[in-house]
Amino acid sequence: MIDEQEIQKAGWNFDNTYASLPSLLYTKLSPVPVNSPEFVILNERLAESLGLNVQSLKSDEGISVFAGNRLPEGAEPLAQAYAGHQFGHFTMLGDGRALLLGEQMTPEGGRYDIQLKGSGKTPYSRGGDGRAALGPMLREYIISEAMFGLGIPTTRSLAVVTTGESIVRETMLPGAILTRIAASHIRVGTFQYVSQWGTVEDLRTLAEYTLERHYGHREAKNPYPTLLQEVIKRQASLIAQWQLVGFIHGVMNTDNMVVSGETIDYGPCAFMDTYDPATVFSSIDRQGRYAYRNQPYMAAWNLARFAETLLPLLSADEEEAIKIAEAEVSQFFELYQSNWLRGMRAKLGLLSEEAEDESFIKDLLDLMEKHQADYTNTFLALTFDNPGDSALFSSGEFVEWKERWQGRINRQQESRESSHQLMRNSNPAVIPRNHRVEAALEAAVEEGDYSVLRQLLQVLENPYAHTREQLEYSQPPEPSSCGYRTFCGT
Ligand code: AMP
Ligand code: MG
Repeated sequence: MIDEQEIQKAGWNFDNTYASLPSLLYTKLSPVPVNSPEFVILNERLAESLGLNVQSLKSDEGISVFAGNRLPEGAEPLAQAYAGHQFGHFTMLGDGRALLLGEQMTPEGGRYDIQLKGSGKTPYSRGGDGRAALGPMLREYIISEAMFGLGIPTTRSLAVVTTGESIVRETMLPGAILTRIAASHIRVGTFQYVSQWGTVEDLRTLAEYTLERHYGHREAKNPYPTLLQEVIKRQASLIAQWQLVGFIHGVMNTDNMVVSGETIDYGPCAFMDTYDPATVFSSIDRQGRYAYRNQPYMAAWNLARFAETLLPLLSADEEEAIKIAEAEVSQFFELYQSNWLRGMRAKLGLLSEEAEDESFIKDLLDLMEKHQADYTNTFLALTFDNPGDSALFSSGEFVEWKERWQGRINRQQESRESSHQLMRNSNPAVIPRNHRVEAALEAAVEEGDYSVLRQLLQVLENPYAHTREQLEYSQPPEPSSCGYRTFCGT
């Protein structure tokens, strides 16, 4: 028997402001109950920061909420409507297998979306089963938490439960539900949806709501160019951070870009081992549209789509509106580049700025590409002056580059120690390498052994700690596991 009062003890404290937006933006409905939910993993620290009680969340009552079998008081579940450009083609989408339960108000006054992913069919399911498999939900858990550990804005993973039901993919797989936490789920695609099917008033309401929720209330005379500018700024910073750690999102469709500036939708994403700007992991991205080197361009493309949706708000005069939009979008590359350059300088321990830094950094990257160096480990080796035996470190060109680098460091006023500290704090000891993630998932899904996954999560928690334990996790894969492929619709 589920005790309803017990559910409330978990500390759920919902507000539902999204449900007060124009009704075209969502469909209210409840999750589809599942057979026999079982606890898999709970992010205890995250739970506590949300004002939730860990013991209650792990009880049968707590699990029934994560499974969608019971609703906490105050939840007003809804599926969000959105559209999106998928690989360049505009489509109507929406939450086909997710539901927003509400916005958890935290003890610190924060507001976070609580979303169940894999909670059953919705009016937006388009022939899909509304469900998710255990492996991909655990994969999202690992990688989103790794991103958080790296200090990169991201949605987070609170819990995974299995449903006790099998789902049909290429084979039968165990079903699971992920509870995702986000600053919000307002996507570029949400604006596209309203722009296509709503009124200008609907659009204005959504824009006002977004400004209020993510950018504080601004008294600006014309707040809409400010909204565009702020979203562009956050994306420029976010994409630079992805590039700096070698993260490849894999499916940068406009529905997978949120205006809060968090990384969202961990489908076919993966981290790069060997440095190659053309790297693409997603099996369906045959053109390499979302390859590592294209990510800034794709972000700019998505932001141009976002700007288009705002045109009626930017100015009553269309030509003028287009001018404003173009001026803002054209800022993206400069913003991106300065974020990236700042990050790269930090990775190389450069505390000052010199005009040649950009070409100097590019020379290193070119050599890394030529000698097929491991991206993460090259920077680690430089940080700890630990050459290893890679082709890169033994090449004459690199030895020359390294001398230039040493000269560059010596020209700084700052101490060598502060330079080293900066490098330690900017070059992660570990990233969630694909072979490690796969090993953790295999043990969990095939054998019900979660120890490998827990260990991996622990190592990824603070990637800048540079502990002995992390050393083992910094090993690149054996050559046989190169050519890694990831899959969409997981
Ligand atoms: P994604 O690739 O996760 O960004 O998903 C793209 C769209 O497909 C979104 O509208 C999802 O809600 C929907 N979708 C993905 N998988 C399923 C599924 N198993 N059942 C229903 N809809 C799905
Ligand atoms: Mg998506």
